[in-house]
Amino acid sequence: MATYIVLLGPPGVGKGTQAVILAQAIKLAHISSGDLFRGNIKNQTELGKLAKSYMDKGELVPDDVTIAMVRDRISQPDCKGGAILDGFPRTPKQAESLEKMLAEFGGCVDSVPYITADEAVLIERTSGRWSCRAQGHVYHQKFNPPKQAGVCDVDGSELYQRDDDKVETVTNRIHVYFEQTMPLVDYYRKLGKLIEINGVQPVEQVTNDLLAALRK
Ligand code: ADP
Ligand code: ADP
Repeated sequence: MATYIVLLGPPGVGKGTQAVILAQAIKLAHISSGDLFRGNIKNQTELGKLAKSYMDKGELVPDDVTIAMVRDRISQPDCKGGAILDGFPRTPKQAESLEKMLAEFGGCVDSVPYITADEAVLIERTSGRWSCRAQGHVYHQKFNPPKQAGVCDVDGSELYQRDDDKVETVTNRIHVYFEQTMPLVDYYRKLGKLIEINGVQPVEQVTNDLLAALRK
């Protein structure tokens, strides 16, 4: 049966970094809703234009378009064995829709690692984040610098700082996270699926904790 893992946690806690490593380690597809939106912005689609107007303010993109976009991605052949969901769901409505769509594919959310860090850490991580233009590989100027400044180690493309990683926007994103996404922590805890992971550790240690928790 397909395995679906939801990575939950505030902006900048390390979900994307860990999702890439886990996807390789346990051979699952990686679905990042933020990367899907950024791909649409890059390709100047209608969805991209709509999403950008919310992302620039640090607000969530409306549920209906977000759910449709993720549904389309999950139904692709490379997700047959399951997926690691990074950045989705972010609202109770998205979580309910996810259960319904996974039931259609004969699966369900199996576990929900919840990665935590305090606000000062989130600000430090987002303000030093550099992302690659081509595929969204992520670096940090202090904690995970690229071999050559401004260039992606993996694909050689240019590194840039996300507009929404400005401190003012991040502060709003953290606020939005507490208002709209935090209810999911209780939702998944009540379902017995939540696994708390300390995000204030080196990347490798967070990965070890995640793998140990997922093996259980
Ligand atoms: P982060 O690094 O903060 O986790 P993401 O790349 O996941 O950021 O998301 C960037 C932005 O994309 C969010 O601030 C929001 O505007 C939009 N977004 C991403 N995922 C969702 C979602 N599931 N629902 C609504 N908006 C989303
Ligand atoms: P999210 O997807 O949750 O927004 P990212 O994985 O993009 O978070 O990480 C945010 C920033 O913090 C990136 O610059 C990344 O390189 C860095 N980072 C991720 N995990 C750690 C860690 N455990 N320690 C230090 N920096 C980290």
